[in-house]
Amino acid sequence: MPIYEYRCSQCNQVSTIFVRNPKTELVPTCEHCSSTRMKRLISRLSRVKNDQQVMDALGMPGPAGSIEDPRQIGRWVEQRFEDYGMDLPEETREMIDAARDGELPDPVNDL
Ligand SMILES: [Zn+2]
Repeated sequence: MPIYEYRCSQCNQVSTIFVRNPKTELVPTCEHCSSTRMKRLISRLSRVKNDQQVMDALGMPGPAGSIEDPRQIGRWVEQRFEDYGMDLPEETREMIDAARDGELPDPVNDL
């Protein structure tokens, strides 16, 4: 189901419109003021799609925020560097080790 975003010319709010049937002509209506003076937004959604494609290409298991166990992130990062034959940078290694000890990375503490 295509999802489009529109910006209202009247109240300047963005509405997300689900297009259930692309064959019928869509009259987007503002969620906020019910105006039909809507301008289609393209850039933002296409950028999100590109980010998703990058993650898919890298084999990322999902958005970083959805990984609850920090050790899983460390394992994944290690595996990526291994796959590309690269050495793990020292600060990344320290971050992973800290995450395994149950600490969340907090660069402010290092200053
Ligand atoms: Zn509006």
